[in-house]
Amino acid sequence: MHKIIKDIFTIFNDHYTKVGDYSATELINPPRVVTLKNRYPECSKDIFMIRSAASLFGSGVHSYIEKLLKPYDSKYQLEQRLQMKLMDKKLSGIYDILVDNKDMYDIKTCKAWKLIFDPEMKDWHEQQNIYAWMIKQIHGIELKSINIIAMYLDWMVGNAMRSKSYPQEPIIVYPLKLWPYEKTEHFIINKLQELIACEDIPDDELPPCTREERWEKFPEGVTKKYAVMKNKDAKRAARILLSKEDTIQYCKENKGLNSASYVEIRYAERKRCETYCEVNNKCNHYLTYKKDMENDTLFDIVPMDLILNGKWI
Ligand code: SF4
Repeated sequence: MHKIIKDIFTIFNDHYTKVGDYSATELINPPRVVTLKNRYPECSKDIFMIRSAASLFGSGVHSYIEKLLKPYDSKYQLEQRLQMKLMDKKLSGIYDILVDNKDMYDIKTCKAWKLIFDPEMKDWHEQQNIYAWMIKQIHGIELKSINIIAMYLDWMVGNAMRSKSYPQEPIIVYPLKLWPYEKTEHFIINKLQELIACEDIPDDELPPCTREERWEKFPEGVTKKYAVMKNKDAKRAARILLSKEDTIQYCKENKGLNSASYVEIRYAERKRCETYCEVNNKCNHYLTYKKDMENDTLFDIVPMDLILNGKWI
């Protein structure tokens, strides 16, 4: 990395200091990631550039929009920090735009794959509902709506024309579902309890991140694929299927398979671990996964006899 880029990123990262014990963003992240990040604030070198660049782009867009709206601050409340005490912990968060004390908007700079892989916008719902709950607790204001202004940094007109599941415009406002306050409160307390419990757990014993949390998904929407191999010398799969049930049916119907055949269960790439998790170099699960990848022992093998005898559980 060029020295000037390193300096910019270092100054930029020093600029943001953590406030309180846990933030709204930490509540929606996997406890393993949050706990390891708190223990090892120094980011993994491989990820430093990617994270810093993404944050820098995001901050640039936020600052510019804030500058544009600043003269209208009787209507728009911008970048307000929320802070409160809950279960003996200081909980904090910053919302982006509150319009007329009613409608909240959060600006997200992201890639188009975010919509393709997470059409339900799960984490955005969680985060915005936490802010809505905090605003009610702190200021007594009940919001009428929560919304995301998504800005797709890599948006391409050709992709939008080709696929309806691709964002159809480079900037889209998504109205989110406002949860009942009791539901949000329950969610926050559960998450906070999980994080507090992790404080005393050694690194290697922290609860594992789920497949969903590791952003482990093929573009077809599944986390596993089943490759039917005729024998160990076969260069290519006879067929790749997306469900276990279809695989069993295919194996039963295909006369060309025998006891030398097998099914290789292939797992999707752990996108978050590989490219976005700042603590992957401290995570024993990721380090084992990497070793399995290097040794070609990641995929599970199911012998054909087991499948044909109905013993594949
Ligand atoms: S590397 Fe993956 S499994 Fe490990 S903490 Fe990060 S996201 Fe979770």
